[in-house]
Amino acid sequence: MKKLVLVLWLALVGTSVAEVQPLSEFWYQTSGEYRALCLQTYNLAAHKLEVLRTFISRGAEGEAKIPGSPKPLAIIMDLDETVIDNSGYQVYLIKEKTSFNQDDWDGWLKYQSINKGAQKAVPGSVEFIRVAEGLGITPIFISNRTHESFEETAKVLKGLDINIENIEERLILRRKDGKARAQKLVKEMGLDPASSKALSIVEGEGEKEERRRQVYDKYHVIAFFGDVLGDFEGITFVDEDNKPQERVQMALRNKHRWGTDWFILPNPLYGSWGPPHSLKAERMVDEMSDFGFGDWLKKK
Ligand SMILES: [Mg+2]
Repeated sequence: MKKLVLVLWLALVGTSVAEVQPLSEFWYQTSGEYRALCLQTYNLAAHKLEVLRTFISRGAEGEAKIPGSPKPLAIIMDLDETVIDNSGYQVYLIKEKTSFNQDDWDGWLKYQSINKGAQKAVPGSVEFIRVAEGLGITPIFISNRTHESFEETAKVLKGLDINIENIEERLILRRKDGKARAQKLVKEMGLDPASSKALSIVEGEGEKEERRRQVYDKYHVIAFFGDVLGDFEGITFVDEDNKPQERVQMALRNKHRWGTDWFILPNPLYGSWGPPHSLKAERMVDEMSDFGFGDWLKKK
């Protein structure tokens, strides 16, 4: 009898676990593997910068320059899930059985800015930023947090022991007129608005491309850090249903850049890689492949 109860109990627990399974959040917050991947990325990036040391000369303000480029060296970093760990917000969503909404997220940004316990860095990021600054390389943060959260975000960076000197110039957040700015830039560049380059600037994820180009005016950018493809290049999708394939193509097309001057951090929690709204959970299984194993087994 006891055995039967145990079996039933396991079956019940098994079912409920199968229903919820916040595996990605669990992996993110508790696994050694997540930390190892982040450290691997930042260690590799630090090594790449160290290699430049012998070529670097310093300007009047200590800024690094390399032969052939008059502009000071910089790196562009995303913030959320690249430098700042916001998994606490994702776990909140699970616990409350709700999904992302702007009000909650704004509340999280405020909470994080005033609670030391919610200020967590992506492993290796703070140490890496110090290595870059030690070499005279300027870290520029381009994030899709809205400009309204500037003070809160700067507070979090300070709380993480990241240097916020001159942060007004180095923290470039999303502005309400982001799209209009991007359209203006396309016009100034004389691009055909229907060209893929123009579309990537205007429609690219979070319109980060326009902000990256502002940085290129002043700095020689030598490396990029992010957790979604849009942190590296303006990418747009003509057909929502072809979204995953286009993302895969973008990643493969740039295969020589990963670990060279593009450094990506693992984020299984959320992102533009996720299923399009039109794709229901049941259909997600259809989108994946067992490599023909099921059919082979049945025919055997
Ligand atoms: Mg991010």
